Amino acid sequence: MNVEKIMADLEAKHPGESEYLQAVREVLESIEEVYNQHPERIFTFRVTWIDDKGEVQTNLGYRVQFNSAIGPYKGGLRFHKAVTPSMLKFLGFEQTFKNALTTLPMGGGKGGSDFDPVGKSDAEIMRFCQAFMLELRHNIGPDQDVPAGDVGVGGREIGFLNGMYQKLARQYHTGVLTGKGMTWGGSILRPEATGFGALYFTQHVLHTAGKDIKDKKIALSGFGNVAWGAATKAVELGAKVVAISGPDGVCEIPDGITKEMIDYMLDMRASNRNKVEDMATKFPGQAKFTAGKKAWSIPCDIALPCAFQNELSEDDAKELKANGCWCCCEVSNMGCQPGAIHFFQKNGVLFAPGKAVNAGGVATSGLEMTQNAAHLSWSAKEVDEKLHWIMENIHEQCVKFGTQADGSIDYVKGANIAGFMKVAQAMLEQGVI
Ligand code: GLU
Repeated sequence: MNVEKIMADLEAKHPGESEYLQAVREVLESIEEVYNQHPERIFTFRVTWIDDKGEVQTNLGYRVQFNSAIGPYKGGLRFHKAVTPSMLKFLGFEQTFKNALTTLPMGGGKGGSDFDPVGKSDAEIMRFCQAFMLELRHNIGPDQDVPAGDVGVGGREIGFLNGMYQKLARQYHTGVLTGKGMTWGGSILRPEATGFGALYFTQHVLHTAGKDIKDKKIALSGFGNVAWGAATKAVELGAKVVAISGPDGVCEIPDGITKEMIDYMLDMRASNRNKVEDMATKFPGQAKFTAGKKAWSIPCDIALPCAFQNELSEDDAKELKANGCWCCCEVSNMGCQPGAIHFFQKNGVLFAPGKAVNAGGVATSGLEMTQNAAHLSWSAKEVDEKLHWIMENIHEQCVKFGTQADGSIDYVKGANIAGFMKVAQAMLEQGVI
């Protein structure tokens, strides 16, 4: 985060408001240097487990506890072969601001492992999760650090992790992890929440720009939990999902994704094959697979990156725009490369960043923590209403801090400033610790 850039933007927006600008500069400068580079704590540990052939495998596990000014560390676990401390630090950094935006009392953290779930059996996944928890348990707890899912970690993995935690710690508090199953402390709608929240946010972006989502064509990347939730809500709102993608290529769905296809996304995730081609094999008349292509090659109105960081490049942005795309809401964390964001913003494509768009996931984790702490469960209606309100509020914060002199909204700036101001204030008020 660059203080001078934020200050220049703010000065353009609030000319002459010298006391205000001075206060903001003071906060930003006092925190920036220390904050940007220094998570509060990083744990690194070895994870050894036995594969199905009886051979010993070793991976590295991590938990980055980034910032606890607002509440216990909170953020997902990522299991992916490319995981490094650097990746988890960027995710923990983003998570801290995102969590601040939700209005709920959650600090920021992230963790994971370079374990590659692709091609692993369920038994191997279970043994890995159990071995991972053998170490992680020392540093987590409902008022300390509450991990959840992320790429490669969904309901199945949270189940194995939670089972092992309870066994080792002999503590049966339901609030140690979020994203739990419905029968053991999970919140209704948590699996859907990231995708649902992203679509609620997209609706606000569209309405503010005088547009509507009905009948719009959506291209989305991925076919995991987030893409599944986004596709479900997009169809419910009357949009047409014309593409999904995976590491192997893209499936074009000219007539729009159906309920059966959305359900099948769950089987694809559970198979650990990581191939979107399976959708075209299962629904040959409806989905057409092209190897090596991204979702961004399919003409659409709205692009929703739902898979991995940096998955949408500047060239992809240009191709999207050339094919008629006029809105991109980033659902994955940092899904768009800086060149792509710049291109969208310069060329009139509505753009909103992941830390605002995808905050519904962790927000609903926060709601799960509340239910666990109170030992009760809310109805779907109650959770959905709260999620709606949170996404609307995040949108309002983006508008408040991101409205430009010409009336357009810079959602990147709005989300960054709103999140940062809250964390900075919480840190300053609690002194040098
Ligand atoms: N991994 C998700 C995120 O990036 C969810 C984290 C959580 O629920 O704690 O926000």
